[in-house]
Amino acid sequence: MTLSIIHYPHPTLQHRSRPIVRVDAKLRGMAAEMLELMYDNEGVGLAANQVDLPIRMFVANPSGERGEGEEWIVINPVIDRPKGSESGQEGCLSVPGVYAQVKRPKTVRLQGYDLQGNEINVELDGFLARVVQHEVDHLDGVMFFDRIGIEAKRDIEHALAEFETTFESLRNTGSIPDDAELARRLAEWEKAYT
Ligand SMILES: [Zn+2]
Repeated sequence: MTLSIIHYPHPTLQHRSRPIVRVDAKLRGMAAEMLELMYDNEGVGLAANQVDLPIRMFVANPSGERGEGEEWIVINPVIDRPKGSESGQEGCLSVPGVYAQVKRPKTVRLQGYDLQGNEINVELDGFLARVVQHEVDHLDGVMFFDRIGIEAKRDIEHALAEFETTFESLRNTGSIPDDAELARRLAEWEKAYT
């Protein structure tokens, strides 16, 4: 199948994804495809919501380069034990070109599973901790700019409005299905994997 990255304000970005209960060859293929999309678009992380899938899975590589750094595919991630607080710049493949400073815990614990069913249980800090928190937010339907103040939001308001205009015109031309059709598709995926 061919996945593509959806842009703000696509409704699936506001959808809270459900835990995965079934891993099959198709799901593994989707994870591999998500990594390819992430590298092709020069990202460091990509959540299933961003490719219009309502399932709790993300991929990441803080280096952003194929064959370098640490590649992550995480199923049913859970974050806890937040410590400290740090501000850092974030962008998102679902709103390319838009950046803002986001304050997040400096270190967190990540639990979840890899594609082989092995448990993941690690303390993360630095940039990887930020990336993982950003991706888990996506799975809960939260965008990075939902976490910034009114002042900072004002700086990116115009750019967001442009994405809204583009979305509306794609909808009007039928390139993006209506809400009922999108909901029907999400329900199908949820039935198959959650
Ligand atoms: Zn993002």
